[in-house]
Amino acid sequence: MEIIETNLQFNSNKTIRDLNTIKRIILHHSGVTVLQTVETIHNYHKNSRGYAGIGYHFYVRKDGKVYRGRALEWVGAHAYGSNTDSIGICTEGDFNSETMSEIQKNAIKELVTYLKGIYNISIVQGHKEVCNTSCPGANFPLGEIVNATIAKNETVQTTRSIVDLANETIQGKYGDGEARKQALGSLYNEVQAKVNEILLGKKTTVAKKSNEQIANEVIEGKWGNNPSRKEKLQNAGYDYNAIQKIVNQKLR
Ligand SMILES: [Zn+2]
Repeated sequence: MEIIETNLQFNSNKTIRDLNTIKRIILHHSGVTVLQTVETIHNYHKNSRGYAGIGYHFYVRKDGKVYRGRALEWVGAHAYGSNTDSIGICTEGDFNSETMSEIQKNAIKELVTYLKGIYNISIVQGHKEVCNTSCPGANFPLGEIVNATIAKNETVQTTRSIVDLANETIQGKYGDGEARKQALGSLYNEVQAKVNEILLGKKTTVAKKSNEQIANEVIEGKWGNNPSRKEKLQNAGYDYNAIQKIVNQKLR
């Protein structure tokens, strides 16, 4: 799937969170029949509501295109009392008066499935389940979206830090030998190096990651959004353009 990166400018009025705190997805509609770009919603939330910028993490338009809103590392502003542990997805339209097109419905299903797989999320809710509102609308196909998106089995939550994984490895959580290799997957070498470092008290050199690995991390949200993503990658010594190219190919 493709997430269209945006270049929205946020102010400092936002709260950073650990991606491990994400437990659920909350679905919304824009509540108006008129078409709105992600920038329109961003500007409205920023200038009229006093938020740091768009309150949602993703915006799914009627044409099925998915836009990034605020970074997943920032607590959203979309469901009062339920923001800290959730991802907010807004869908364009007023689903109290309209019905959703297949293309938009499929885009939401794909996005929800993708996020559930990455963040090990099992709870998907409509805004009205957590707040006194009719959002995302009586015609919103909530049940269909929730049921269509069964999470994939995950061996390791890759959003955990290497140090956490190393400590868990030492505690025996991932077993030994082949079992450990399987459980840690692509993170095995890095985690094992950290385990050795902790156990032996000496540093083992960790090879620089491949562009492919970094591209996966970008997709998982570890490197944030542009323009800061570009800066972070370059500061870490990576080739931003090469990595972004891989990201775009993967999300096709
Ligand atoms: Zn809502």
